[in-house]
Amino acid sequence: MQQYIDSYDFTGKKAIVRVDFNVPLNENFEITDDTRIRRAMPTLKKVLEKGGSLIIMSHLGRPKKVDPKFSLKHIVGRVSECLGVPVQFADDCQKADAQAAALKPGEALLLENLRFYAEEEGKPRGLAEDASDEEKKAAKAVVKESQKEFVKKLASYADCYINDAFGTAHRAHGSTALIAKYFPNDKMFGYLMEGEIEAIENVLKNAQRPLTAIIGGSKVSSKLAVLKNLVGKVDNLIIGGGMGYTFIKAEGGKIGNSLHEDELIPDALEIMAEAKAKGVNLSLSVQTKVADDFSNDANIQLVPSHEIPDGWEGMDAGPESLKRWKEIILASKTILWNGPVGVFELPNFAKGTLQIAEDLAEATKNGAYTLVGGGDSVAAVTKMGYADKVSYVSTGGGAMLEAIEGKELPGIAAIRE
Ligand code: AMP
Repeated sequence: MQQYIDSYDFTGKKAIVRVDFNVPLNENFEITDDTRIRRAMPTLKKVLEKGGSLIIMSHLGRPKKVDPKFSLKHIVGRVSECLGVPVQFADDCQKADAQAAALKPGEALLLENLRFYAEEEGKPRGLAEDASDEEKKAAKAVVKESQKEFVKKLASYADCYINDAFGTAHRAHGSTALIAKYFPNDKMFGYLMEGEIEAIENVLKNAQRPLTAIIGGSKVSSKLAVLKNLVGKVDNLIIGGGMGYTFIKAEGGKIGNSLHEDELIPDALEIMAEAKAKGVNLSLSVQTKVADDFSNDANIQLVPSHEIPDGWEGMDAGPESLKRWKEIILASKTILWNGPVGVFELPNFAKGTLQIAEDLAEATKNGAYTLVGGGDSVAAVTKMGYADKVSYVSTGGGAMLEAIEGKELPGIAAIRE
């Protein structure tokens, strides 16, 4: 049965908490952005305040073996500072029995990188490149078997389990999903996870209408499942950025050298037909800022999005598109945004994405619920200074995308089961 941090009695209990401390480090192993550490603090502090002790576990990077570069010892100092207590360190996540057992209420222990073990992901490592399917299958069976012991060991350290790692909630890994079964009556979400789940439900389940999704980014292929799920749920679907040109081409438009995926034209047509059948307003860019080269210094002109001249490529949404999108955004009560509507990394083509961020901020001020999720759109709102002017900024790239594809995330299901 699922428990809740606010009502759970942590007195004298040891909580093993899966967090996402996968923070960027520079070449001196200094943290360059500690957002993920800070976002986990409300949960960690609450356990200590309520008389519990902490066993904190995370991955860092993608090590394929024990590799000091990816050691979590680089971040112990920062975690201690944020938590306000000195955090102990276990330099092998599978050999922390004594340290975990010795923890007193108010104390915290950070385990070494879980991904130093293949068992965390449950995927075999070191297979020869020419391994046969049989060999791969056998190796997978071996790691899956040893994964049980790996997870059991982690579980043995604690009395209860908290998952606060939304960034890995779409992975059925040892520490994100499998461990939950050892705590059938003592498992719960951390506050960050609760916030992310609530944000997703505000958009996908309990949305105030009109509901608008703005989907941008480079490729239709990476967001096909998102588009297919949303087209049946939203009132307005704005498709911008590089992926928009596949739709414009599917409609018979001329797109010059713009990014597109011919093989996805049938899917684009299907999505447009479904939008029409369901009365969904699917809004593509009507005017595009095009360039004669993929560079900030290229020559620029504004053209109708369906009439891009040969030799030119669509780089950003033009003012006419932005005006239409603004009207849709300001008339909406719930808005989901994923993916930039232009090549926002180049200053001359960032205007469209900046305008969307501004529109979302205005809609939020007017009482709309706005969720920004997934990779580059999060980077864009943060860089442009709008992160605290929207209702919620998700911490999960892939996890948020899978959630808006309508999938049940293993890390969420394991707690609810
Ligand atoms: P994604 O990771 O799919 O959300 O895509 C984000 C990337 O899409 C960013 O790096 C943008 O520069 C890129 N992008 C957005 N619009 C365009 C465009 N019109 N042409 C090429 N790339 C684009």
